[in-house]
Amino acid sequence: ASDSAVLKSSTTNVHWKDIGGLEKVIEELKETIVWPLLYRDEFARLGITPSRGVLLYGPPGTGKTMLARAAATEVSANFILVAIPDLIKGEVGESEKALTAIFANAARSPSIVFLDEIEAIFGSREQSGEVGKKLITQLFLEMDNIPEDASVVILAATNAPHLMDSSILRSGRLDKKIHIPRPDYSSRLDILTRATQNLSIENATELLAQLAETEMSGAEIKSLVRCACYSAIQRGTKVLCRQDFDIALATASAVDQFADMQ
Ligand code: ATP
Repeated sequence: ASDSAVLKSSTTNVHWKDIGGLEKVIEELKETIVWPLLYRDEFARLGITPSRGVLLYGPPGTGKTMLARAAATEVSANFILVAIPDLIKGEVGESEKALTAIFANAARSPSIVFLDEIEAIFGSREQSGEVGKKLITQLFLEMDNIPEDASVVILAATNAPHLMDSSILRSGRLDKKIHIPRPDYSSRLDILTRATQNLSIENATELLAQLAETEMSGAEIKSLVRCACYSAIQRGTKVLCRQDFDIALATASAVDQFADMQ
């Protein structure tokens, strides 16, 4: 894997306020990630060693990446996204070099390194073979060697926590785990409200309250709203109505059925 394949370094424009539900998770991330980066000197003075890394685990499309981006925005940190499955695709030697470059880059300025689909490094040890094993060793080395005074925090995400090796959850690595659940009714309503705040919708309050009854992840809600917008455009109107969301729901369920058949 070349650097460019795995290293997407940027500032982000996602804010805490864009995230629906997950209030407790946001508070926890503020305490573990944001405060130590913002108030480094105070932590040092009090002799508190903050967590270097946090594992976010939970089902797909529940906002793990979004949370990491929002944390980076909050502390004006560089956001470095590393897709572990892409990293593993490289040759032996090449992937470790890419990882070293990522951590060297991170240490230069306040950074959040986001290791997406981290289980790939452990889960497919057989498949990834030599590359996977060497990469695990290199990752631990990089994490353990982050300079004490560097403003670098590691956030990792997984949908498959059972595939994780406990060695990465050791102190000084990803020593805090936070569960990101599928949204409950009030979180779904919150996500729906935020996703539609710039849209005109007929009987919005009643319609959104009903839509929130359907079990959906945040990503599914976003795609439902997008689909309803297409339907309204097709009808040649700027005001969405129940019919547009009915079409969007029917499309989503057809896609699900198709996926089940695969
Ligand atoms: P995966 O495990 O599949 O990588 P993820 O948990 O990282 O998914 P995200 O990529 O953060 O999920 O979410 C995908 C999209 O779904 C986001 O860009 C956002 O539009 C929407 N979304 C998910 N959760 C939320 C939420 N809690 N509030 C607002 N939008 C959300």
